[in-house]
Amino acid sequence: MQTKVVKIDCEKIDKNGIREAAEIIRGGGLVAFPTETVYGLGADALSPEAAKKIYEAKGRPSDNPLIVHICDFTELVSIAREVPPEAEILAKAFWPGPLTMIVRKNDKVPCTTTGGLDTVAVRMPNHRIALALIRESGCMIAAPSANTSGKPSPTEAAHVALDMDGKIPMILDGGVVGIGIESTIVDLTEDVPMILRPGYITKEMLEQALGKEVRVDPGIIADSSDKKPKAPGMKYKHYAPKADLVLVEGEEAAVVAKINMLVTEKQKAGKKVGVIATDETKERYHADYVVSIGARTDEDAIARHLYRILRGFDDWEVDAIYSESFATPRIGQAIMNRLMKAAGHQVLTVE
Ligand code: AMP
Ligand code: MG
Repeated sequence: MQTKVVKIDCEKIDKNGIREAAEIIRGGGLVAFPTETVYGLGADALSPEAAKKIYEAKGRPSDNPLIVHICDFTELVSIAREVPPEAEILAKAFWPGPLTMIVRKNDKVPCTTTGGLDTVAVRMPNHRIALALIRESGCMIAAPSANTSGKPSPTEAAHVALDMDGKIPMILDGGVVGIGIESTIVDLTEDVPMILRPGYITKEMLEQALGKEVRVDPGIIADSSDKKPKAPGMKYKHYAPKADLVLVEGEEAAVVAKINMLVTEKQKAGKKVGVIATDETKERYHADYVVSIGARTDEDAIARHLYRILRGFDDWEVDAIYSESFATPRIGQAIMNRLMKAAGHQVLTVE
């Protein structure tokens, strides 16, 4: 299959491109499209055959449910068995935006879309191309991240093309995404709302909007790997770079010294080494490849660059990667959740 890449300017949306993509969705086919978090791989959410194609193209386990993307709150009402009052409050506060809500599903939603669960994950993306595609197709669009399972989520159309070329009919190229890590997932099916995946919308933001306690699924907090996470996707081994990745945390000068020591050791053994640094520290490393993830104070930039940088090290074929740690104040938990998985939880703490 030939994959057509259609560039779309977010400021001046080409209606023909959207129409063509919408036709593919209506016909049960797949279209990759940008959202504000990462690129999604979309299909008609209410068609089991269409949803099945997503699992095939990604090589995704069939028990790992998809997020249903909508462009109007009434669509959530139409697929939910009941709409908890929290859903209305959170939709008012954060939709369109990087928040996915889990509610009980009704019979309209096929089990293929929900990985066999009787709940459904729903989100209204804050991206003009995504919203135009949902509206034009007249379908709710099931869309996980548009990467091959086990690779980092795509933050630009070129990443999607690398993973999906020849497997899907169309990619809408809307440029580089704004946020760069996947949505926060909050489960609203129990008395206390629970975060199943950390993201740009934090626990504090949810608590403030709801005026009540929100919990974080103990299964996703790093190191507590004895507990099973509730979001099926969080239990799978996520992206691990080809090279061994180790995080080094502690006071800045000590981290730089430790990483340089480790780099020297590896280089002496004839290895090629990469370092994930920040704007503040990048000049102080002597690895083969030193990449800045952004300014340490700019956590949005850190999130936005993370997946692109991880993909880059695979291309350079380094043998080892050392990264500074980014437990930043607001979305640090979301960033570290992804980075810790990529590192297989290898962390060195220095004084
Ligand atoms: P992705 O879109 O690739 O980021 O994957 C969607 C994530 O949402 C995966 O981690 C899924 O396990 C999770 N998810 C989707 N639907 C549900 C659901 N009904 N209950 C719990 N987690 C879900
Ligand atoms: Mg994904």
